[in-house]
Amino acid sequence: MKFNKNLQNIKTYEAGKPIELVVKEYGIEPKNIIKLASNENPYGCSPRVISAVSAILPKMALYPDDSMIKLKNALSARYGVQNSNVIIGSGSDQVIEFLIHAKADSGSKILMNSITFAMYEIYAKHVGAEVIRTASQEHNLDEFYELYKKEKPEIIFICTPNNPTGDALDADEIYDFLKKIDSDTLVVIDGAYMEYAIHKDPKKELVVKELIEEFENVIYLGTFSKAYGLGGMRVGYGLADSKIVDELYKLRPPFNITTLSLEAASVALGDEEFVKKSITLNFEQMKRYEEFAKEQKIDIINSYTNFVTLCLNSKQDSTVISNQLLKKGMIVRNLSSYEMNAIRVTVGTDEQNSRFFKLVTQFL
Ligand SMILES: *Cc1c(COP(=O)(O)O)cnc(C)c1O
Repeated sequence: MKFNKNLQNIKTYEAGKPIELVVKEYGIEPKNIIKLASNENPYGCSPRVISAVSAILPKMALYPDDSMIKLKNALSARYGVQNSNVIIGSGSDQVIEFLIHAKADSGSKILMNSITFAMYEIYAKHVGAEVIRTASQEHNLDEFYELYKKEKPEIIFICTPNNPTGDALDADEIYDFLKKIDSDTLVVIDGAYMEYAIHKDPKKELVVKELIEEFENVIYLGTFSKAYGLGGMRVGYGLADSKIVDELYKLRPPFNITTLSLEAASVALGDEEFVKKSITLNFEQMKRYEEFAKEQKIDIINSYTNFVTLCLNSKQDSTVISNQLLKKGMIVRNLSSYEMNAIRVTVGTDEQNSRFFKLVTQFL
């Protein structure tokens, strides 16, 4: 059978290996498996979310509130924007899908960092757009600007902090860059890990309200999957000028967020204490990774997120070590598909991290 030819050279996105598959393939008991591969919050989610979601389980028979008023109000209040500036997706992944379909088609160009979130390229290929990448591993906005002038892309992706490397740009640098970009180029700022970055260094904080008021061509993306600990609920959002949001709405399927997810995200926004505690513990534990890397003489990229990227240099092959870890029930992210001899490890709980250090020491 012939399929859409745009799909021909797409490599299916490989999410972090599910615990369920490790149980099946290696016969390891679920309680002995540690997953540090998808940057989930190792402390779970706010207990308030669990009670709120439990309380509304009987509403399951009805379609969700498609106006999403409760969550929109909560997000608007949080960022100081209007509800007309908000679009909610099944993960911010879905918002990325909407915006690429809304702005690009075959022949369009989409500019992104050399190494960055893999879904940008996959959605770009859906519509037959050409992907242009910078050269440096970290975001270098001078390189972005040179390529912008040369290639005139329809969309520019800035992922800050970046996944899978963890580095982040200063807000000032981003502002200076945006001033030079014409208003018909859509600039996407993916802040999936922004809550972490702001805690580590306030210079990374973008004031989203000012950003989208000053630049009508910018969309800011956030998610509940990382700091808020709701990866399983699939909720993300885009904040932008209402003219952009109105276009994205044309692509949104009805009821794209479940009743339980809407409730979970609304309540999660109200428990900032939980998020703060998770982030504080995250950076405490991250220090252990930095010390570990020093002891083992491997490189670690300075991270503004809830994961670390360990560059193994000539110490070990990242595919070999990822597989050795997997057989012991430890799931990490091999970055060989990004042409890096590195692994990305979500910073886990104290106990999970200790287990990681113990295992890796054996394999290095
Ligand atoms: C995790 C992540 C997302 C989106 O996650 P969702 O679960 O779809 O909300 C978006 N961008 C980056 C860079 C991420 O790491």
